[in-house]
Amino acid sequence: MSAHIRPDLDAIPAYVAGKTHPGAVKLASNETTFPPLPSVTKAIAEAVELSNRYPDNHAIELRGAIADFLGVQLENVAAGCGSVALCQELVQITCRRPEDEVLFAWRSFEAYPIVTQVAGAKAVQVPLDGEFTHDLDALAAAITPNTRVVFVCNPNNPTGTARGKAEIVEFLDKVPGDVLVVLDEAYFEYLRMPAEDFPNGVELGRTRPNVLVLRTFSKAYGLAGLRVGYAVGAPEVITALMKVHIPFSVSRVAQAAAIASLEARSELLERTDAVVAERDRMRAALIAAGYRVPVSHSNFVWLPLGARSAEYGAASTEAGVIIRPYGADGVRVTAGDPHENDAFLRFATDPETVARFLG
Ligand SMILES: *Cc1c(COP(=O)(O)O)cnc(C)c1O
Repeated sequence: MSAHIRPDLDAIPAYVAGKTHPGAVKLASNETTFPPLPSVTKAIAEAVELSNRYPDNHAIELRGAIADFLGVQLENVAAGCGSVALCQELVQITCRRPEDEVLFAWRSFEAYPIVTQVAGAKAVQVPLDGEFTHDLDALAAAITPNTRVVFVCNPNNPTGTARGKAEIVEFLDKVPGDVLVVLDEAYFEYLRMPAEDFPNGVELGRTRPNVLVLRTFSKAYGLAGLRVGYAVGAPEVITALMKVHIPFSVSRVAQAAAIASLEARSELLERTDAVVAERDRMRAALIAAGYRVPVSHSNFVWLPLGARSAEYGAASTEAGVIIRPYGADGVRVTAGDPHENDAFLRFATDPETVARFLG
């Protein structure tokens, strides 16, 4: 007889390990292609030497460094085992009853429905608009007395689209003050918008205690394998997050690497210009070949291929480039190194591919 497991977990797909394809180019996970800088590797090596000791559970040094960098207080910053852990913790601190609602656009980040189900709360999804962008009016209209938290992924994963500051402010002004708005800014560093409309959640949150911003070291800072992200928000929210935090889940190595990466941020952030240039080059080449590709503000592009998405993903793998299909909606392709992107573009713009998938 096997152990009794919560039956409602049956609705969550079991984890299936990704197939490995020796020699294939991987443009499926929005990673940075560069290894850590030497100064970061050195900090990692020094932290490893102390692996017999527990890490600082309150991550004081890291949170202090983030607070200094952003011009906020230590009490405004929480660290998490990747920002995905913070997503789960945010639902845990806001939802307890089955009728508590977690609101988000769809498609958006795949973790949102999962962390909602794990918490036993109710997911409410609002379709993206025809441009694959957050429909903020519809999102505001979907708020009910049971809404506890709204996730707004800006720029949105997997479509790459973003809303500017004016639109986000208009939305925030419509949200009741007791509903937590989480601005998930995992791709913040790839945003290129005019300064006057640049959507910086940390700035917008300064006067709004119901706004919480998530950022991560996994994408532009290149530490996806070490698992560290952070939340910036009102001290009451941060304090609650620390109550549900899995003790010591941000490792000593992750904390040290994140601190060293913040110190090296000018060099790391400079790299995003090359990624942005590649992303725009990929988009232009795909559009020239006949694809529809929404404007991307992230390090990936979205191809809305509908029912053919899975087949397209399989054909790309066959051609040596692993990309990410999303059900019957589309495929997401990360901007990698130029030669990797060229490998994808060779497949994507091949007349045979175009005839088969766009015909
Ligand atoms: C990648 C990503 C994250 C960050 O994940 P980590 O857990 O920090 O690696 C968060 N939100 C979105 C939308 C993402 O795409």
